[in-house]
Amino acid sequence: VKKSGMLEIINFQEDIDDIGGLENLKDWLKRKGRIFNHLDQAMKAGVDIPKGLMMVGMPGCGKSLAAKATAKLFDVPLLRLDIGKLFGKYVGESEGNMRRALKTAEAVSPCILWVDEIEKAFSGIGDSSGGNSITTRLFGTFLTWMQEKESTVFVVATANDICSLPPELLRKGRFDELFSVSLPNREERRSILDIHLTKRQKNNLNIDTIKIVKETEGFNGADLESVVKDAIENLYLEGRDTLTTEDLLEIVKETKGISVSLKDKIS
Ligand code: ATP
Repeated sequence: VKKSGMLEIINFQEDIDDIGGLENLKDWLKRKGRIFNHLDQAMKAGVDIPKGLMMVGMPGCGKSLAAKATAKLFDVPLLRLDIGKLFGKYVGESEGNMRRALKTAEAVSPCILWVDEIEKAFSGIGDSSGGNSITTRLFGTFLTWMQEKESTVFVVATANDICSLPPELLRKGRFDELFSVSLPNREERRSILDIHLTKRQKNNLNIDTIKIVKETEGFNGADLESVVKDAIENLYLEGRDTLTTEDLLEIVKETKGISVSLKDKIS
């Protein structure tokens, strides 16, 4: 299973404090983390063991980051399932692969099973197109496992588009919670900028983040990280020490320029 790349152990550094914004999600994860960190005690007290979380939303807004932060908070390994790699050409091969991958995850439990871009594998099921029969069987295998699993495998599913997900997957009882992850607002952009500046050991005191935040409407977390990264690279190449608001604003202007010219090309 590991060799085929279907299931991969992810090594990472990020933790919950590396996520800017998404306060409801972070609070929820902290609560579940307290349960996960003392499973025996929680079970004795009659608490239900957390089953899983679905995050849906725009790319580059922190879903992958949150999957990693969950594993760090829960203090368990993070396994990433690439559903695309489960598909095989022989009858029953795909479901067999899925069952094997899930068994491996159970053997590693307690752990997090991160199903990234879940809509890529399961789109079309339940709508008029019906998906194809392999997808439907694979989906059935996954749902049954989600319902019946007894081991402590916490499933983190991430998707970009809620509309392409089969409704059965979103039905109450499958996941404990569904979070929508959208573009950061002003306050969230400010905390994302602060996180990435601090991470690169830049003193933020002389940077007017409010000014930058005003100019970055529509930027996602990954865009904001790039702004910080590129400005610091310029600073280094120009042999300067102190990062300024103008350095960052210059990159913001360039970034906006690129997205406008891309839009021009597409339209
Ligand atoms: P995709 O759907 O394309 O996989 P995603 O929502 O999973 O996107 P991430 O991979 O988590 O997005 O984000 C890419 C990078 O952008 C992160 O590694 C992080 O450095 C930065 N980033 C994104 N969102 C945030 C955030 N809320 N706080 C801090 N950094 C962020």
